[in-house]
Amino acid sequence: MATIEPIELIRSRIEEVDPADAREEIGDGVALVDTREQHEYDEAHLEGGTLVPPAELADRIAEVVPDRSQRVVLYCRSGDRSARAADLMESELGYEDVASMAGGIVAWQDAGYPVVAAQGMTKDQRMRYSRHTLLPEVGVEGQLKLLNAKVLLVGAGGLGSPAALYLAAAGIGTLGLVDDDEVDASNLQRQVIHATDRVGMPKTESAKLTIEHLNPDVDVVEHRTRLDADNILDIIEGYDMIVDGADNFPTRYLLNDASVRTRKPVVSASILAFDGQISTFVPYEGPCYRCLYPTPPPPELAPSCGAAGVLGVMAGVMGLLQANEVIKLAAGIGEPLIGRLLLYDSLGTRFTELKVKRDPECPICGPDAPEIPESEMGRFPDYDAFCAGAAVG
Ligand SMILES: [Zn+2]
Repeated sequence: MATIEPIELIRSRIEEVDPADAREEIGDGVALVDTREQHEYDEAHLEGGTLVPPAELADRIAEVVPDRSQRVVLYCRSGDRSARAADLMESELGYEDVASMAGGIVAWQDAGYPVVAAQGMTKDQRMRYSRHTLLPEVGVEGQLKLLNAKVLLVGAGGLGSPAALYLAAAGIGTLGLVDDDEVDASNLQRQVIHATDRVGMPKTESAKLTIEHLNPDVDVVEHRTRLDADNILDIIEGYDMIVDGADNFPTRYLLNDASVRTRKPVVSASILAFDGQISTFVPYEGPCYRCLYPTPPPPELAPSCGAAGVLGVMAGVMGLLQANEVIKLAAGIGEPLIGRLLLYDSLGTRFTELKVKRDPECPICGPDAPEIPESEMGRFPDYDAFCAGAAVG
């Protein structure tokens, strides 16, 4: 095995052609070889390009290009692997006329030239999500999962705003927004999906405008209401998972109990002042919100952001961590924050992870929790009283 030489050195001794020149000569007695991996080739390749992955080059190139005097143009993703392959072919395999396409298929596509692409996405979508589909862990298959995902955001505020922006950019196909509030000037310090000229506009409407401007692939569903015991099952029914950015405890407990009943994952975060926390609750796979917090804190120990203030950037960090969890769950990749509570201290820039377990005594997801008959599904305790009760309890 040759040692790995710096790419600049290799570039200096091979011929490189830019995509425009490559396009001119391709097809004219030129062998076009794709030096990437199979999954990249499947996602998109140049018409007429034959795949020879780098590791197989020495063994297979003679099969693909038997005549060593034939003109060969190599390409890869960005031009590095094809430069190394061109060098190998000329210096060790006896080929005489090899060029590497500078910038690879990325530059080719950026120049607007056509590719043969995977099924299931439009040409615009292939371009828009190419930096996702190039990741082997995501690929076209993962992006299609995102495009088919339906995610409900509870709250279009400090957490929901950044989460919604990035989920929309990522191509989550359906985003539901629950919020009954209107944009206020004091929101704009952190609720970046809204804008100064939208003060007074319903938050769901403002968020929808921004999302549609960012990514027309996303279907935005407005739920201009407050989640309550009467509407929650109808609202969450159509979604695969939920982002909890609620600003009050009654809604958090209601959402938890309803999502456990319907077995929908909830990515839950909360923020106050300079600190945030986040966990992913997947019913029966890990703890639920009540396993962590069997009872709400008394109101005097649970000030709202309105009363206590919040660092806008910290809210953004937490909302994006929620979006990151959603992407992983929807694409089926990575390791979700199940059974883990992640704390973020923005002043110290410290993350702390706590292991959290299911509570065998949990009244909602514990083994002794009562089975809920169909007729009782939509009935929930009085959460306002439950949370207010904590004050005197
Ligand atoms: Zn529980």
